[in-house]
Amino acid sequence: MAASITTTCPRCGTVVLEREDLLLVVDRWADVSWYQFDCVGCARRIVKEAPEPVVSALSFADVPSFSVPAEVYERRDGAGRPVTDRLGADDLLDAVLLLAGTDDVVALATASS
Ligand SMILES: [Zn+2]
Repeated sequence: MAASITTTCPRCGTVVLEREDLLLVVDRWADVSWYQFDCVGCARRIVKEAPEPVVSALSFADVPSFSVPAEVYERRDGAGRPVTDRLGADDLLDAVLLLAGTDDVVALATASS
C-alpha cells in the first residue's frame, strides 16, 4: 500500500501526493536539498527546500530521488583551469529552474552541453 505524502503549495495550501508525484534532489556537496512536485490544484511546479529530516522522511517513503554529482562543482574557466569558487545562489537557482523544466533528469544529467 502506497503511503500518501502531505505537503503544501503556496497557492493551494495542503496537498496530498503519492510518492511518485515527487522528486527529491539531494546535494551533499552544497549541503542543500530540495523536492519538487506538480501541484494537483494549480498545476504549477513547486520546489521546496528539504532539510535533513525531510530528506530522511522522503527517502524512507521511497520517493524518487536524484543526487547531484560531484562533477557539478568541477568548474573550469575559459582556459580550462579549475575554478575553485563554490556555486553561488544564482547557480543553484539556475539548477533548480533547469530541473523544473524537465521530467527526465537522467537525460538532463547525461546531456553533453
Ligand atoms: Zn497549487
